[in-house]
Amino acid sequence: MKAIAAHPPEKRSARLIDAPAPRPGQGEALLKIRTVGFDGTDHDIDQGVYGSAPPGEEDLIIGHEAVGEVIEIGDDAQVSVGDVVVPTVRRPCPQRCPNCRKGLMDRCSTGDFREHGIKGLHGFAAELAVTDSQYLVKVPPDVEDVAVLLEPLSIAESAITETYLIQRRMEWEPSRALVMGAGPLGLLAAMVLRLRGVEVSAAATRQHDSLKADIVRQMGGRYINVKEEPLAVDGGYDIIVEATGSTRAAMSALPHLARNGVVCILGIYPKGEVCGELGDALTKLVLENQLMFGAVNSNLADFQKGIEDMRALKQRYDGMLSRLITSRHSPEGYREALEPGREAIKAVIDF
Ligand SMILES: [Zn+2]
Repeated sequence: MKAIAAHPPEKRSARLIDAPAPRPGQGEALLKIRTVGFDGTDHDIDQGVYGSAPPGEEDLIIGHEAVGEVIEIGDDAQVSVGDVVVPTVRRPCPQRCPNCRKGLMDRCSTGDFREHGIKGLHGFAAELAVTDSQYLVKVPPDVEDVAVLLEPLSIAESAITETYLIQRRMEWEPSRALVMGAGPLGLLAAMVLRLRGVEVSAAATRQHDSLKADIVRQMGGRYINVKEEPLAVDGGYDIIVEATGSTRAAMSALPHLARNGVVCILGIYPKGEVCGELGDALTKLVLENQLMFGAVNSNLADFQKGIEDMRALKQRYDGMLSRLITSRHSPEGYREALEPGREAIKAVIDF
């Protein structure tokens, strides 16, 4: 079968290979993959920054954002042949830590979890893939066309759910949010916040006539081109979601956090970068009871919330979700999908 595999930690190692077709074992499902989306993690694995092949193998099939159809099941599988599904990414650690035992692998406390397409398990950028059926999310027909966005949406859901959960530490009614970055994760986080009735400003470096700016306006948000406009707003932002991966961008947002506000950090930042304003930001954190936290990955509940919100978004903002998919490629076009350019939002591969 056709598969797109990397050879970590070799640089720019992704290529199209002929891989053996997997077979489902007990409790597993065999998926015929329809579409896979690539993100910064796939890009970083291709660049040799991280990623690890399954034990005893050299190649790692990449791709962790996928939608596929169940075509075969092992004994005791929890799905049926014909189901259209999106797989979650992370699998429990062998020690079964308390969080993994509860299905909260995104909060695994040992760090020995495995991740499809990233760490120790093959991904879904292949004609066929196998995974545990209990981690498959069924996709209703009305959102099948955008289901490849469910994995990144689940990350946004996890981040926003946790933001609200953490803020139960006090009486708190957020009215304004700032999302730094208008890539897929930033835009999806902005959409989830809009569904929660929050005013959203999204800041990025693209022009006002760009697709990204237009999508922000379509959801009723305010787009800020940081090259020309200030981030400041009266009263500050109750929530800041940092999704640029730039230390400088993250630091530039912190002075605009409202009293009692919360910052959710979602990027991966360059090593060893020094920022001069950290002392001011830390003092403000103390004096205004602010909080900053990081969130990675997502769990089954976040995917399920994502399905619900996909439906709400489709009803409220016609065609908006599909505008995030800016290019579709064949498996042979994997290189363009991994390096789609600065104006692109989400590149996908149809198998
Ligand atoms: Zn664990």
